[in-house]
Amino acid sequence: MPRDFLQGTKESYDVVVIGSGLAGLTSANILARQGYSVLLLEHHYQLGGMATWFRRSGGHIFDISLHGFPFGMIKSCRKYWTQDIADSIVQLKGIRFENPQFSLRTTFNREDFTRILTEHFRIAPETVAAFFDTARGMNFFDEQTRTTRELFEQFFPGRDDVVRMLMEPITYANGSTLEDPAITYGIVFSNFMQKGVYTFQGGTDALVGKMRAELIRNGVDIRIRSLVEQIEVGPDRTVRAVVANGKRIACRTVVSNANIRSTVLKMVGEQHFDRAFIESTRAIRLNNSSCQVYMALKPGEGFDTGCGDLLFHSEHRGFDIEAMLSREVSSRTFSFYYPETRPGSDRWLIVSSTNANYRDWADLSEADYELAKAELIESTLSCLEKYVPRIRSVLDHVEAATPMTFERYTKHVAGSSFGTKFEGLQVSRDLPQQIRGLYHAGSVGIIMSGWLGAVNYGVIVSNDVDKYLTVPGQA
Ligand SMILES: Cc1cc2nc3c(=O)[nH]c(=O)nc-3n(C[C@H](O)[C@H](O)[C@H](O)COP(=O)(O)OP(=O)(O)OC[C@H]3O[C@@H](n4cnc5c(N)ncnc54)[C@H](O)[C@@H]3O)c2cc1C
Repeated sequence: MPRDFLQGTKESYDVVVIGSGLAGLTSANILARQGYSVLLLEHHYQLGGMATWFRRSGGHIFDISLHGFPFGMIKSCRKYWTQDIADSIVQLKGIRFENPQFSLRTTFNREDFTRILTEHFRIAPETVAAFFDTARGMNFFDEQTRTTRELFEQFFPGRDDVVRMLMEPITYANGSTLEDPAITYGIVFSNFMQKGVYTFQGGTDALVGKMRAELIRNGVDIRIRSLVEQIEVGPDRTVRAVVANGKRIACRTVVSNANIRSTVLKMVGEQHFDRAFIESTRAIRLNNSSCQVYMALKPGEGFDTGCGDLLFHSEHRGFDIEAMLSREVSSRTFSFYYPETRPGSDRWLIVSSTNANYRDWADLSEADYELAKAELIESTLSCLEKYVPRIRSVLDHVEAATPMTFERYTKHVAGSSFGTKFEGLQVSRDLPQQIRGLYHAGSVGIIMSGWLGAVNYGVIVSNDVDKYLTVPGQA
């Protein structure tokens, strides 16, 4: 008999959260703290979604998406999780750019970027200040037609070197491009510029372990290996139940942390929505996917601490999104993990991340796919030799992940790493107006993506759910 991962669930819950990404986990935690009965259903055997890790023999632990997030994460974790979690967030000071146009080191905050822009790139201080103030002043209610390209043209016309420094790290962080609305850039860039780049000391396994303990303390019923197949909606367009692993579980509200498109089109079904809403959902563009190469050094071996923490490497001239997504990629972000990443460990690891097109990988035959993975590993090692010359002789373990890997583990359409383009946010926000009791909290609209965006969106949506559940006669 296959194991029943839903054995002993209650007949009905106030809230069912579908998916345990950072947005889903945060919504579940806040709502359980408020006294609601919460069931968290995750199809994977591990919680965290993209905020995840894996172990390999020899004691190696690789983090997938723990490269860096803004300072705001400390406040969000303190308020909506625990002081202990917030206390483990530390700054990464060694951010590096190496490309044909410049070689730079920075702490990645406004002060240091101002120094670089004025001293290295010779931009007038008033222009730099005006650019930062404009980016900082942008908010959701601003006009949304100006693109990031136009924003850069206004302040740094013809300066592809400046555009590259300002844009490349943000593209790696959330998949945005020069054609996306400038406000998505302004908000995310300014979040980083506030105080630099931060990480979670102890690794993703420690973070998710602490979150899990907190969820249990607050009474969340957590079920892994539980795939939600359907969200059941009544004729009055109100959420009634979910079906997971073939089992029906009644609920008053659903918070879906799955991709917005699969939530609407697959789990609920088109027949329950207005035509125009379905068309808007179909029109949502996904963000790109990723490839990664994970490298662990032999115990006792290390690399020069001068490598920094995050290294943006490229052999390409200027910011070129097509080149960044191509399989013949020359632009990579290297994350260097020192033993202090997991205090008490003696492990040195490197993860190389590149943005990628899903179709470039999905359309390969099995043999070509394996070959392409081997080529990715080989080109990554060749590139890394510039910074860690002995990498091949000190390497203990290496393997690669592709868009197919991200799709398999998170169920995201086309393995999208950072949710959807901007238009996904409106559809996500409008969902409860279509179906009472149905909410979405997960990477959408570029702004609500990444570790901080996902956590903060989980907070916003849990407030909406709370309002709905407390209005008498609503449920
Ligand atoms: C390679 C890579 C590097 C990244 N680097 C960074 C970084 O350095 N900094 C940063 O801030 N962000 C980074 N990100 C992005 C960040 O990890 C994500 O934006 C964020 O973790 C997404 O959280 P989420 O809440 O949207 O949900 P997700 O993490 O997408 O999780 C959704 C969850 O829902 C589950 N699910 C889906 N469908 C179902 C179903 N039907 N039934 C049950 N469960 C379901 C999935 O299994 C998954 O666990 C990176 C992402 C990738 C891929």
